Amino acid sequence: MHVLILGGTTEARALAARLHDTVRVTSSLAGRVAAPRLPVGEVRIGGFGGVDGLVEWVRAHAVDALIDATHPFAQTISFNAARAAATAHVPLLALRRPGWVPAAGDDWRPVSSLEEAARALDGLGDRVFLTTGRMGLAAFADRPQWFLVRSVDAPEPPMPARTEVLLDRGPFTLEGERELLARHGIDVLVTKDSGGAATAPKLTAAREAGIPVVVVRRPPVPQGVPVAATPEEAAAWVRGRAEAPSPRT
Ligand code: NAP
Repeated sequence: MHVLILGGTTEARALAARLHDTVRVTSSLAGRVAAPRLPVGEVRIGGFGGVDGLVEWVRAHAVDALIDATHPFAQTISFNAARAAATAHVPLLALRRPGWVPAAGDDWRPVSSLEEAARALDGLGDRVFLTTGRMGLAAFADRPQWFLVRSVDAPEPPMPARTEVLLDRGPFTLEGERELLARHGIDVLVTKDSGGAATAPKLTAAREAGIPVVVVRRPPVPQGVPVAATPEEAAAWVRGRAEAPSPRT
C-alpha cells in the first residue's frame, strides 16, 4: 500500500513516523520553508501543478490513499486534494488538529480573514504581536500600528511601515511568551486558529496579561471529506484501508 501525505505540519510528521514501518509513505511539502523539518520516509518537495498535476502524480506513483495533513489554513491544497481524490478514485482523509477554545479570562475577537483582523486592530493599542505567518502581511500593510512579526523565514514586502521581524520557529514556552509580550510592551495579539500545543502558550500569556487576541477563524474542510483529529486516528483509518481492496482505477 502506498500512502501520500500532504504535509507541512507536526501532525503530518507524526503520522509518517507511525506508518512508515508498515506501509510505503511519501510525504509532500510545498517548499515554502527554506530548511523544513523533514518527516521519516520518502519526501517530495514542491507543488504538483494544480488538481491535474496531483491526479497525475497519484496515478503515476500508484497511490492507494491520500491524507491531507496540511495546515488548517492551507485551503487551496485541501480543495485540490478533494478534487484529485474524487477524480483518481482514491480515498481521502483530512487530518486536522482541533481548533483552540477560549478559556475563562480570555478576550478573543474572532474574525473571518486577515483583512478583517487588520480592521479589528483599531482601538486595541499601538503595539501588535502578529503571528499569522509571513504570507498575508499585505493585509496589514497600510495599518499605522507598530508590528512585531514572528515567522520562520523572513517576510517580504508589502508589510506595515513600522515592523520588527523576529525569526523563530515553535514550539514556544509559556515563560518565553510572557517575557516576549512584556519586553515589547504588546497591546494586542493576532493569530490564526491553528490549534495544537506548539504555539498555544502565547494565548495563555495574553490571557494572563489581559491582552486582547484577534483570532482568525479556520476555513472549512472540503465537503464530504472525513476528518481525523489526531495522527493515531489517521493511522487507524489507513490500517482500515490496507485491509480493504483498493478502489483505484
Ligand atoms: P495553499 O495556499 O493551500 O497552497 C498553495 C499551493 O501550494 C497549492 O496549490 C500547491 O501547489 C502547493 N502546496 C501546498 N501544500 C503543499 C504540499 N503539502 N505539497 C505539495 N504542494 C503543496 O498552501 P499554503 O497556505 O501556502 O501552505 C503551504 C504549506 O505550508 C502547506 O503544505 C501547509 O501545510 C504549510 N503551512 C501552512 C501554514 C498556513 O498558515 N497557511 C502554516 C504552517 C504550515 P500546486 O497547485 O502546484 O500543487
